[in-house]
Parts: sequence; structure tokens; C-alpha cells
Amino acid sequence: VPGNILLEAVGVEKHYDKFVALGGVDIKVRANTVHSVIGPNGAGKTTLFHMLTGTKTVSGGRIIFDGHDVTREPDYVRVRRGMARSFQVTSLFLTLPVRENLRLAAQGVAPAVALNPWKPPTGALACSETVDKVLGTLGLQAYADTPAGNLSHGQQRRLEVGMALAAKPKAIFLDEPTSGMGIDDLEDMKQLIRSLKDEQTVVLIEHNMNIVMDISDTITVMQQGRVLAEGLPDQIRNDDRVRKAYLGNM
Ligand code: ATP
Repeated sequence: VPGNILLEAVGVEKHYDKFVALGGVDIKVRANTVHSVIGPNGAGKTTLFHMLTGTKTVSGGRIIFDGHDVTREPDYVRVRRGMARSFQVTSLFLTLPVRENLRLAAQGVAPAVALNPWKPPTGALACSETVDKVLGTLGLQAYADTPAGNLSHGQQRRLEVGMALAAKPKAIFLDEPTSGMGIDDLEDMKQLIRSLKDEQTVVLIEHNMNIVMDISDTITVMQQGRVLAEGLPDQIRNDDRVRKAYLGNM
């Protein structure tokens, strides 16, 4: 897998009293790849996302992003460094047109980037260029003037990704972007995620194994707060420990 390492976690731990949610996780994410994190329920995937993006503090270990030790930095500082996390439908302004949603996100007003009070105001022109570009990436040009609430479920899910993209991040964190989707929407989301690699690095939590195998460059498998395996899709598919963890459901 080519590319420099954009994001690295070294021995990251998270304890809740005596419960060890993460017991020393190492992960290296290369630039311009799709890096998926999979594992059974409760394995610690979401907790790891919280650590990487800074929504919760680590109990131990280090996180390096784009050459900076961000371990002690709060989430809004990491946003400024180029991390963006996609949030569920609740982050959309349902009564506002799609374009307006993206404009607010590009300006740092919307939830995906609201965490960043230091972001300098972006010029109107720069914003509208970004918005047009994101509309194209999402395949939603024809819906630019449609209220977000009138979009289909699949389109709304893509717009959520777009809200994070509008911040022009280096890395985008997607937590189950396909959950509850029908087959056509799945295909569109797959294509969208693949297309992001040209300009972004994608860190993905995904339960749908077909999708994971299809779009990932690298897969990290977690189990009980630890990394069970890491490798290319084919390596993971054929890994006996992984098969066992999933009881053959792969
Ligand atoms: P899922 O696929 O079900 O979303 P996950 O792999 O994302 O699971 P996490 O949500 O990271 O798993 O949870 C890991 C473990 O940490 C779980 O056992 C969970 O109950 C526990 N946990 C998470 N948050 C807390 C908390 N605030 N206090 C105590 N335990 C917690």
C-alpha cells in the first residue's frame, strides 16, 4: 500500500474505571487510502475514533497526525489540522437547501466543523467554489436547491459526508456511513468513498463485510479493545484468527 503515513496511533489506551475499552492500539493510516476498522460489537471501534479525532481523551499512548503529536489537543484543534468527522443526519439543516447546508459547513458553522472556533472566515468566493466541488463529488448538483429534508435517505447520508468534506480535510472519519441503506444507495456510497481517496484519506468504520472488502486498501480488525489483525482485504479474509472472531461470518 503506497503513501506516507498521515495518521498514527501508538499504544492508545482508554480505560473506564477498571474496564479497558482500548488496551494499547497501534494503527498506521497511509495518505490517500481507505483504511477500515472492523470488529465485533463492543470491540472498541467507536472508542478508537473518539481517540483519533479528540472527542474523548486517551488514558495512554500517542496520536500523531500529519507530523504533529495531537494526543493532548482538543477536537477543534484537530479539525484545524485537517481532521473531519462525518455525523449522522442530525447534522443536516433539513429545511435549508443542499447548497446552503454545504455553504454553512464550508464556513465552519455546521456541526462537522463547528468545533473549530479558530477557523478564519472563508471568503464567499472560496466557499462557493468548495460547495460546487463537493456537490459534484456527491453527485447532488441537480439537488443543490432542494431542501435537505426532501432528499432520499441515501442522498442525505451522502450529504453528511459532504458536510465534512466541505471543511476540506486531509482525513475524513466515517462511522458506518452505509448503515440501514438499500442496495442502490450502497453502491452510490461505495463509489463516493472510493472517489474521496484522490484528495483525502478515509478512515472508515463499517459493518458490511462486502463493502469493507471491496473498497478498503487496509483493514484493521479489532477485538476486545485490541488489534487482532491488520492487512490487505485478501489477507484479512484469509486470516484464521479473524474468521474465528467472526465465527465464519465473512
Ligand atoms: P459497535 O460496533 O457496537 O458500535 P464498537 O466496536 O464501536 O462497537 P465501542 O463503542 O468503542 O465499540 O465500545 C467498546 C467498549 O467500551 C464497549 O464494551 C462499551 O460498552 C464500552 N464503553 C464505551 N463507552 C463507555 C463509557 N462511557 N463507559 C463505560 N464503558 C464504555
